[in-house]
Amino acid sequence: MRIENLKSDINSYLESSPLNSVEELAIDKIFTDPLLAIADAGDLLFEKMKDPSIIGEHFLLPEDWLPGAKSVISYFIPFSEQVRSANRKQGVPAKEWVYGRYEGEQFNESLRQFVVEYINSTGEGKALAPMLDSRFQIIERLSSNWSERHAAYIAGLGTFSLSRSLITPKGCAGRYGSIITTLILPVTARSYNGLYEHCNFCGECINRCPVKAISNPRKDKIAGMDKAVCADYSRNVIFPRFRPRHGCGKCQTAVPCEDRIPDII
Ligand code: SF4
Ligand code: SF4
Repeated sequence: MRIENLKSDINSYLESSPLNSVEELAIDKIFTDPLLAIADAGDLLFEKMKDPSIIGEHFLLPEDWLPGAKSVISYFIPFSEQVRSANRKQGVPAKEWVYGRYEGEQFNESLRQFVVEYINSTGEGKALAPMLDSRFQIIERLSSNWSERHAAYIAGLGTFSLSRSLITPKGCAGRYGSIITTLILPVTARSYNGLYEHCNFCGECINRCPVKAISNPRKDKIAGMDKAVCADYSRNVIFPRFRPRHGCGKCQTAVPCEDRIPDII
């Protein structure tokens, strides 16, 4: 299987899938211009995820999910300008954003499935998406046995940030997906060394957060965002208002890393 063909077919899927739109809000495309990268399934960074200071022992390796795993395909699907711009105002999240998160994740699930079936149908190898597997679970509150963002970091898509998002060359406002396969695919070179190389610690996400979940930059870079405060806000304020939708994303919009790697300051 040629990776160029897979990229092209993913682009076509984004263009043609009705799940990548929201008729009710006249959103023509929830996501545009995907990025794709490949990690070696044996990359030692996967093993490092078992460190309790990163994810923990409950993290499953690619080989645990799929015996014979050779590669991990990771993608980033950026939210369209229509979804991002609607959420740039301060205050409660825009309808376009919460639909983008909820309906967008349904599209993302279909995209994971599309890639799994694409590879399996070649007959050249097997594929599996951890997020679609029955073994996927949240072990402790807010910690799961697979992480799309950590897989994306290992695959070379981007680095972490003060707001705990991952900043790719197309910014941080979007969603991630990953597929493990037994195919040997060309590994993407990581163009960074540090965990936070793409974040410039400007602190603009701090001002955007309605519940002060993000802490002072430079004092506490590693635990910049309190996941529990963020999740409680989404559950107790956003969800009752937009049920069954949730999500806020103010820290991912109207910030210098929304759709690019920000300039170093
Ligand atoms: S707004 Fe600034 S500090 Fe916050 S994640 Fe983006 S680049 Fe980093
Ligand atoms: S998603 Fe909203 S509540 Fe959570 S950290 Fe970002 S701005 Fe704060």
